[in-house]
Amino acid sequence: MKRVIVVGAGIAGMSFASQLCRHGIPCEIYDSRENASENAERASGILSKKGLEKSGIKYKESIENNLIGGVVHAGGREIMFKKNHTVAYIIDRKKLAQSMYNELKAGNCAKFKFMKRISRAELLELSNDNNNIIIGADGAVSTVASTFGFPKIEKYVLTYKAVYSKAKIKNAHYVHLFFDNNVTPGFFGWAAPHSRSSIEIGVGIESSGKINSRQAFKKFVETQIIKEMLNGAKLEYEHASIIPISIRKRTCNENVLLIGDAAGQVKATTGGGIIFGSLCAKTAADIVYKNITCNMPLQEYEKHWRRRYANDLKVHEIVHNFYSVLTSKQFRFLIWVANSIGVDSLLSKYGDMDSWLSTINNILLRKRY
Ligand SMILES: Cc1cc2nc3c(=O)[nH]c(=O)nc-3n(C[C@H](O)[C@H](O)[C@H](O)COP(=O)(O)OP(=O)(O)OC[C@H]3O[C@@H](n4cnc5c(N)ncnc54)[C@H](O)[C@@H]3O)c2cc1C
Repeated sequence: MKRVIVVGAGIAGMSFASQLCRHGIPCEIYDSRENASENAERASGILSKKGLEKSGIKYKESIENNLIGGVVHAGGREIMFKKNHTVAYIIDRKKLAQSMYNELKAGNCAKFKFMKRISRAELLELSNDNNNIIIGADGAVSTVASTFGFPKIEKYVLTYKAVYSKAKIKNAHYVHLFFDNNVTPGFFGWAAPHSRSSIEIGVGIESSGKINSRQAFKKFVETQIIKEMLNGAKLEYEHASIIPISIRKRTCNENVLLIGDAAGQVKATTGGGIIFGSLCAKTAADIVYKNITCNMPLQEYEKHWRRRYANDLKVHEIVHNFYSVLTSKQFRFLIWVANSIGVDSLLSKYGDMDSWLSTINNILLRKRY
């Protein structure tokens, strides 16, 4: 029997394990943290309802808030998207990680070992045995990828986010995105209400080395709209982190597969990695199952996930490359044009938060999202 070793118990590692367990194949999961929810709050959880349903993640008990729309602020103008129903959720990342872990633990198929960092030497030794399959689900700075010489991820976003209580929130069901390449070069800032009085403020910047994400964050909270939201608010916690925003050119070799952030399976437009990461993790588990039961080559993983999801992720990269260099004047013009020709109402009706390709398809077929 082959041994399946998963490095990393984040969303991707646990999505992989739960799909593999559905096929009745056991695996071992190693993570350097103390438990599955430690540090999960470093990242946000703004997730489309449709994406969550497609991913099969059981999320209902982890919902903090529901969103019906969003406002994009850029170049001193705004564009608003809204639905008359819930389109996305703010998910409590700690609760989500804990509930995924609890379910796997109860199934008694995946064996967890926490506080265990897998070293390069251990990885090389494990890979020498052809009966071992190694799953690199070890996040943005993947030791698995570097140990086995996978091509580098070319672009990262550095993030800084904080959660405040007692904030002044006008409408708790809208997320606000702020594009200003002078404040958040190469990415954007966000304000995502967790409840009527609690809000998450965050920034991402492209990793150019000129400023760090905390400096960008300090500048962002001094902008007028954020200042008003945070007037009298109390800081609860803050964190810096990192998001890969380009796909790794190769994600599989003879007996090693990369999934999630380790593979760069992230929407470059927004930095969202949960939906595509978990969908690709499920694809990986299906291939591993077929490898074990009927000798399907593991390399099929590369073909399968790229065929299903890489075009969508590529379009996200193109959109990111476009907006990441716009000046305030260009943003101002773009938003004026978008509002004038009714892009706001088109996206409100047909927009798919996860996929530009589906959005275009929905518009062409007049299929409401
Ligand atoms: C500020 C911020 C906001 C975000 N907001 C969103 C959002 O709103 N929506 C969304 O979809 N996505 C969002 N993301 C992205 C999302 O959080 C990630 O794409 C997702 O968590 C990646 O999951 P993963 O399992 O691939 O990696 P990770 O969650 O990074 O898990 C990797 C795990 O591997 C472990 N590990 C690493 N190396 C080793 C080793 N050598 N041995 C053992 N264990 C190891 C780590 O301890 C870690 O637990 C955000 C990210 C950030 C930083």
